Amino acid sequence: FIDSLKNVWLDGHFVESSESNIPFLTHGLHYASCVYEGIRFYNKKAFKLEEHIARLFRSAEIMDMEIPFDEAGIIQSIEELIARGDITNGYIRPVVWRGSDSIATFAPNNRIHVGIAAWEWPSYYTKEKKLEGIRLGLSKWKRPNGDTAPIEAKASGHYMTLTLSKHQAMRDGYDDAILLDTNDAIAEATSANIFFSKDGELHTPKLGSILDGITRQAIFKFAKSHDIPVIERDITLCEISTFDEAFITGTACEVTAVKSIKDHTFNNNELVSKFIDGYAQMCGE
Ligand code: PMP
Repeated sequence: FIDSLKNVWLDGHFVESSESNIPFLTHGLHYASCVYEGIRFYNKKAFKLEEHIARLFRSAEIMDMEIPFDEAGIIQSIEELIARGDITNGYIRPVVWRGSDSIATFAPNNRIHVGIAAWEWPSYYTKEKKLEGIRLGLSKWKRPNGDTAPIEAKASGHYMTLTLSKHQAMRDGYDDAILLDTNDAIAEATSANIFFSKDGELHTPKLGSILDGITRQAIFKFAKSHDIPVIERDITLCEISTFDEAFITGTACEVTAVKSIKDHTFNNNELVSKFIDGYAQMCGE
């Protein structure tokens, strides 16, 4: 897999992946002072690139890290990375982390590094699987609220409990897990936002304990242009039986139906298929 990482950009230079090693005493590794993005490109064009880079800079700022490049420079480097490579449909991973100058919690002057890698990554689920839907278990971990963790940032530290949740779900025979927030409202899946539908309306968890997904925002836009109301609110597990359909959204899973959450099965996927097709159109898949 590492050999397929032909295209790596590190601190302003294109390098071989074998040259992209980082020192053992890297602050980002020891203390999770690290933020990142995941971006798909279709037919050599990155989907919602400006939005992802804006979120990367916001995440870094929240994590007290000043990126030593501007947004336009990072965007240009990503476009060049895609153009140089021989991958048509793939994934871009920009990472920003605190370097190795001081290995203590106090490290405000450590150099901030930026690395970007590109690799080939077909859709996570086939079209059939996206329509058929995935099965979600329930994680024992809660997504933190804004007083407990920098929830708005796409920070690597969040992926500690998200990874544990995904592992447990797979071990239990599910495809993924859903996490609740600290008030027991539904938050999100391990790397995707969730939507429910009933009576032609979409309902989705409000911000506070979730990542504000770029795909989530694209769904809002698509829904608006099709006169489908979207309601952001607290949704409890007790009410999932009142919904007709459910689906998850994210750069990795794109738009994928949810077949079941624990023991509850959703029987319909009429609206979901509209959003699966709408998303494919938006990203020029
Ligand atoms: N929630 C979490 C926890 C995620 O990691 C992701 C993936 N970035 C999402 C939601 C979906 O975000 P996006 O649509 O921007 O990929």
